[in-house]
Amino acid sequence: MKSVNNKPRFSPSLCVTHSCNLDCIYCYQEHDSKNRMSLKTAKDCIDWIFNNIPENMSGVEVTFIGGEPLIEFELLKDVYEYTKENYSHHPHIFYATTNGVLLDDKMKEWFSEHKNEFVLGLSLDGLPEVHNKNRSNSFNKIDIDFFKKTWPEQGVKMTLSDYSLDNLASNIIFIHNLGFKQIDGVNLFEGTYDWSDEKYIRKLIPELKKLVEYYANNNNGESNQMMSRYIDMCEEINRQRKKWCGIGVGTIFFDTDGTKLPCPFCTPMTFDKGSLENILETDFENNDSFIDDACFEHCYIFPVCPFCPGANYLVKKSFKQRDKSKCRVQKLITLYCADLYAKKIINNKDAFQEERLYNIISAIEKIKKYYMPEFKEYWNIM
Ligand code: SF4
Ligand code: SF4
Repeated sequence: MKSVNNKPRFSPSLCVTHSCNLDCIYCYQEHDSKNRMSLKTAKDCIDWIFNNIPENMSGVEVTFIGGEPLIEFELLKDVYEYTKENYSHHPHIFYATTNGVLLDDKMKEWFSEHKNEFVLGLSLDGLPEVHNKNRSNSFNKIDIDFFKKTWPEQGVKMTLSDYSLDNLASNIIFIHNLGFKQIDGVNLFEGTYDWSDEKYIRKLIPELKKLVEYYANNNNGESNQMMSRYIDMCEEINRQRKKWCGIGVGTIFFDTDGTKLPCPFCTPMTFDKGSLENILETDFENNDSFIDDACFEHCYIFPVCPFCPGANYLVKKSFKQRDKSKCRVQKLITLYCADLYAKKIINNKDAFQEERLYNIISAIEKIKKYYMPEFKEYWNIM
């Protein structure tokens, strides 16, 4: 759904169950099958959502999450009907991320009929052997064609594991070749990597090189979430003290019992009671609660260095003080993003607006100058 009046969408989520039918190797959640949302609680959440749309937002995207949300398919349908009956005058859409395994013919029929108002996003990790290793041997249980046919513009969500990193480029190219243009979630926030370990830098370099070659010549110039950084933002003279996400404001999360929490990451499935209580004391409206001043003032790539405050809290017990163990890998990825821009400009500079082009070229120069020396020991493989 497009945002209305260029305002951001209100994007709350409802956790309909803590239960999951898979046991993915990187999952950080605790799955307790007793915790499921009742229809009464779900209706109360929907009432709250449509009566509390922030003034600076327009349109509502209600996301169902779990566990695996399709375990509660009957509840999803009931919530859809309730919302339609009571709030059809508000522009809204429903969304759920699924592992795809439970989708049977009855569900497919319903989703086909409601595909314009209810979108399913598929979690898919790449090559069948990699997906199977990460996600409980589930590749052959997914009707991938159904997702492509029903929501052709929808991307997939890919999560990295130690195992998939070895074939990162092949996994990404495989997914694009299946027909998905967008790949979200290729990020460094999930999983248990210690990104300060140099072995990951050595693994990533050849994969990033392959991806630069691929994206310079394929996929209509679109790239995955990891490599689509607007490096020209690094050249902005007046940096904005902005949050990376809507935590605590636009991304309100309702747990199965209706408890309101700041976002899908900051829940009892991830944090203990004491940590959650501390988290809830945060002033979420104040962007400064989420800005590391050292990053803001001294790091050139601050505007494009992605940040999930929830995942950061898990490591640093802070939203403000960033986990710097990821700096090196973020600089490396940004170097390859700069490389990709350089190749795209050589291929077709007319694809860029003149003003942007100027800033992109300045950013490419600075990123190479500042960060290439840090990777001197890898120059022979870069
Ligand atoms: S803290 Fe992380 S999971 Fe939560 S809304 Fe922000 S980016 Fe998303
Ligand atoms: S690379 Fe490191 S110092 Fe720079 S913005 Fe990211 S976390 Fe901060």
